[in-house]
Amino acid sequence: MYKAIANLSIIITILSLVGCNTNYKTQPSSIKSTASHPQSKNITPPKKPSISSSIAKKYIKKSNLLGKKSVKAIAKTPIIKPLLNPFSQPVPILMYHSIGVKRRNNLLVAPDKFAAQIKHLHKAGYQSICFQTLENHWKFGKPLPAKPILLTFDDGYKDNYTIAYPILKKYRFKATIFVISNFVGDANHLSQKQIKEMMNSGLIDIGAHTKTHPDLTTVPSEKMYREIFGSRQIITKYTGKPVIAFAYPIGRYNYEVVKATGAARYKFAVTTKPGYANAKQGWLTLHRVRINGDLSLAAFSRMFP
Ligand SMILES: [Zn+2]
Repeated sequence: MYKAIANLSIIITILSLVGCNTNYKTQPSSIKSTASHPQSKNITPPKKPSISSSIAKKYIKKSNLLGKKSVKAIAKTPIIKPLLNPFSQPVPILMYHSIGVKRRNNLLVAPDKFAAQIKHLHKAGYQSICFQTLENHWKFGKPLPAKPILLTFDDGYKDNYTIAYPILKKYRFKATIFVISNFVGDANHLSQKQIKEMMNSGLIDIGAHTKTHPDLTTVPSEKMYREIFGSRQIITKYTGKPVIAFAYPIGRYNYEVVKATGAARYKFAVTTKPGYANAKQGWLTLHRVRINGDLSLAAFSRMFP
């Protein structure tokens, strides 16, 4: 028992040196081997899980992070129970999309409104964290800062760089942007150059949001795997950093989709289910707080006093 506690404290010490935007290759293999996710209680497994199907195996094998042993382990075991910190704290993960004035839908937040929200969070003492910090807390018990908060942006719109990023920089706020890998570089979306610049600031992490943004629950299995594994590989290729977080397009997922996400070695995946994120929801089915364009600053301030 004492040995176990001593080992844990060593791991915590190592992890305290590991911040956001960190290359996992620098971590000892003992930490990597414990990577696992709790299954979400809300997902019912089908009678015959297809994780051992040839398609699943093909993609699991493709993932360069996995050895032969891991393929076997994943095919056999659903999703391994994690070493959970019993004092895991729920954390709000805010969901933004576009920050701008060209009104597409209710998901667009005006720049001045966004600036006022970040200013408020800063003034109220909120401290932005990244998914790596959340893992260090939920898994290894490293304490979170006071009033922790995660900011996320879906779809990787260009205005995340031109409008949101300067505001985030002003207050030194961190955020994760979930990019659609095939859309990177087009007229409305972030370019590789912009992504790299933001990552180099240490404030912005890049998560994956598939290759083409399909409803993963309705596409054929082969495409579903290609979207989940492929986006991670493409992003890793040009950022040189592992992608640890994933967002389901239009919040749609099922048992098979979550399994594939775990097999692709994402540590976290976020949904559009409302509420604070809690480790007990399942690390691959975390809830988020949607920030709509029509939310007043007064209402926002009441949500985050
Ligand atoms: Zn999306």
